Amino acid sequence: MGYILDTEITYLPGVGPKRAELLQKELGIATFGDLLYFFPFRHIDRTKIYRISELSDELPYVQVIGRIVNISEAGAGRNKRLTAIVTDGSGSLELVWFQGITWVAKRLKPNTDYLIFGKATRFGAHFSMAHPEMDIYNPEQEKLTGALQPVYSTTEKLKNNRITSKTIMGFVQTLLTLAAGRIDETLPPFIIEQHKLMTLPEALRNIHFPQNALLLRKAEHRIKFEELFYVQLSILSRQKVRQIKVNGHIFSRVGEMFNRFYNERLPFPLTEAQKRVIKEIRRDMVSGKQMNRLLQGDVGSGKTIVALMCMLLAIDNGYQACIMAPTEILANQHYESITSLLGDLPISVGLLTGSTRRSERNTLHKSLEAGELQILIGTHALLEDVVKFNNLGFVVIDEQQRFGVAQRAKLWEKNDDPPHILVMTATPIPRTLAMTLYGDLDVSVINELPPGRKPVKTLHYTDVKRNVVFGLMREQIKKGRQVYVVYPLIKESDKLENLKDLEDGYESIVRAFPPPEYVTVVVHGQMKPEDKDFSMNLFVQGKAHIMVATTVIEVGVNVPNATVMVIESAERFGLSQLHQLRGRVGRGADESYCILVSQVKLTKESRKRLETMVTTNDGFKIAEVDLQLRGPGDIAGTMQSGMPFDLKLANLATDGQLIQYARTVATELLDQDPLLTSPRNAILKNQLQKLELHRTDFSGIA
Ligand code: ADP
Ligand code: MG
Repeated sequence: MGYILDTEITYLPGVGPKRAELLQKELGIATFGDLLYFFPFRHIDRTKIYRISELSDELPYVQVIGRIVNISEAGAGRNKRLTAIVTDGSGSLELVWFQGITWVAKRLKPNTDYLIFGKATRFGAHFSMAHPEMDIYNPEQEKLTGALQPVYSTTEKLKNNRITSKTIMGFVQTLLTLAAGRIDETLPPFIIEQHKLMTLPEALRNIHFPQNALLLRKAEHRIKFEELFYVQLSILSRQKVRQIKVNGHIFSRVGEMFNRFYNERLPFPLTEAQKRVIKEIRRDMVSGKQMNRLLQGDVGSGKTIVALMCMLLAIDNGYQACIMAPTEILANQHYESITSLLGDLPISVGLLTGSTRRSERNTLHKSLEAGELQILIGTHALLEDVVKFNNLGFVVIDEQQRFGVAQRAKLWEKNDDPPHILVMTATPIPRTLAMTLYGDLDVSVINELPPGRKPVKTLHYTDVKRNVVFGLMREQIKKGRQVYVVYPLIKESDKLENLKDLEDGYESIVRAFPPPEYVTVVVHGQMKPEDKDFSMNLFVQGKAHIMVATTVIEVGVNVPNATVMVIESAERFGLSQLHQLRGRVGRGADESYCILVSQVKLTKESRKRLETMVTTNDGFKIAEVDLQLRGPGDIAGTMQSGMPFDLKLANLATDGQLIQYARTVATELLDQDPLLTSPRNAILKNQLQKLELHRTDFSGIA
C-alpha cells in the first residue's frame, strides 16, 4: 500500500467521485495530503457567544444561539428566498437563504435551538444574516471540538454543492483520525529537537484543530519554518552545487578595450562605489567560478557604466556580452547610451527587440552566431531559441524583478559553460526578501550618487491646489527647465479610462500652458512606436517643455534638464513606482522637484505612502515601508514568481526574522554537508527532491 497522504481524495469517507472532482477543480485538492495541507484561513473562537441584542455592523463573523420561531418563503424564480426568524430572548435576528432553498428548508426545525454562525448586517431596525452556518445546539458536543474552530475558504460552486467550510472541517477530522500514526515526518529528528519544533503530525493536527491559541502558534511556527527552511536549502544547495561543479569563464586580462575606454572615453570620474563594485565583479571573474551577482543601486546611481565596463572585460577576453531589459524603451535607451559611451571604439553593438525587422533580425542572428557581434542589447527577445551566441561570457539583466528565476536559467543554457550573470535592480529590496528571491546571488551595492546631485525636493498638494503646482511649473520652465506630468495606469483593464484621465489632463495643461509659447507632448503605451519616439525625441532634445505621460516613462528616460516630476493621482501609485518616477528628475545639477498631486480624501495607507515620499529619498527606507504596507497577496503575486516553490503559510513580507533564522540553519547544515550525502540528512535530500519536482512551472511567466 502506498503512503496514506498520496491516496486520492475520492477514497475519503464522505467524499466520493462527484465531490472529489469538485474539490480538485475548485480547491486543487486531489489527495489526502492536499486536504491536510489545505489550511484554514482563520479560526473562530467558539467560546464567545453573542446575544442578539449585542450585534452590530462592525462585528466580524459571530455566533449566536437562537431558537427558530418562524420559517417562510418569499418571491419567485430568481428572486426566491427563504427566511427564518430566530430569537434568543434578547432580540430577534433574520436568517436568509437565496440558494439551496429547498434543501435548507427541509432541514430547518422550528422551535429548536441552533448554534448560528455568520456575519450580521443591519437592515433598518433589525439584523439579518445571509447563508449562516447552522448546527443544532448541543452543549456537550461543543466542548469536544475545542475552542478554536477552523474556517476554510470555499467557492460559490462548492457552496452550491453543499460543500461548506463546515463540510471541509468534517473531512479533515475524518482524515486526521484515519491518518493517525501514519504521517511521515518531513524534517530530520535532530532539527526538530535542536529548534524545539512540533512534530509534523502534531503540527498538522493543531493547525486545523488547536486546543488553544498557543498551540496554534506553535503549529504555524513549525510549518512556516519548514517552508522557509526548504526554500533556503533549495536556493543555497543549488549555489553550492554550482560552486563545486560548474566552472566559470576566467577573464584574466584587463585588455585593450577596457583600458582605452577608461583612458579615452570615460565621461566623468567614477564614484568610489562604482569603482568598488567593478572590483567586486572583477574578483568574481577571475575566480574560476560562475558569477551570479545582484547589483543594487538607486535610480540614477550609475549602474549602466558599471555594466558596460564589465562587458568590456568580457570582450577583451574574447567573449560576447548581452544586456536584457524588461521593456523596449529601456532596451533602446541602453543601446543609445552604450553606443554613445563607446563612441569610436571598435566594438560592434546590436539591438534586438520585438520590433526589430525580420531582415535585420536575420543579420543579427548570423553575426551573433559567428561571434562578430560583441554586445547584444535587447528585451526578452534575447531568450528565443533562435538567438544563438558564439561564446556568451557575460550577461546583464536590468530591472530583474520582472524576470523570473527560470529566465535567468534560460540564458545559462545558451552555452555549455554558463556565462557570468549580473542582475541590476534599482528597486532596493529589503534584506530578508533579497535573501529569498535572490538567495543564490551575491550582492553588490552602489550606495552613492554621482557628485553634484541635489536630493529631489518632494511636495504634496491636493488637487484643489493645482494652481500652485502650475505656478511652480511655470517658474521652472522660465528657467529653461522641463517638466514631466504623469498619470497612473493601474490595471490593464483601466486602459481606456486611464487614457481619458490623460487626455483630460493634457487639455487642462494646454489651457494653462498655451502654445506656441509652450510645447507639450504626450506619450503613452498605446501609441504607435514611431509616434512615441517622435514625442519622446522632442522632449529629449529640449524642444518640448512638458511631457504628459503614463507610466511608460517609469524606466529609462534620461533627460538631465528635466527638473519637475508632477505625479497626478499620486495616491493610486505604489511606493516603489513613485520612487522610480521621482528618480527621473534630479539627474542634472539643478534643484529638482517631485510634486505629488492627490485627492483631498485619502486612505490611511495612501497617506502613509505620500508622507514617506515627502520625508525620505532613501530607497531602502522606502522599500521597507512598502513591504509593510503591501499585503501578502500583493507580494505573493509580484514576488513569488521568483520563488523555488510556493509558500502556503509563511509570508515573505512579515516573516523576515524566520527567513533569516531558516537561512542560518540551512547555511550551517550545508557547510557541514554541501551535497547532503550524510545519512542523517537523507530526509532533507529526499524532501527537497520531492518539492522541486512539484514546484511551480516557471515557463509561463512573461
Ligand atoms: P541607473 O543606475 O539608474 O541606471 P544610469 O547608469 O542611467 O543610472 O546613470 C544615471 C546618470 O548619471 C547618467 O546620465 C550617467 O551618465 C550619469 N553618471 C553615472 N555615473 C556617473 C559619475 N560617476 N559621475 C557623474 N555622472 C554619472
Ligand atoms: Mg538604469
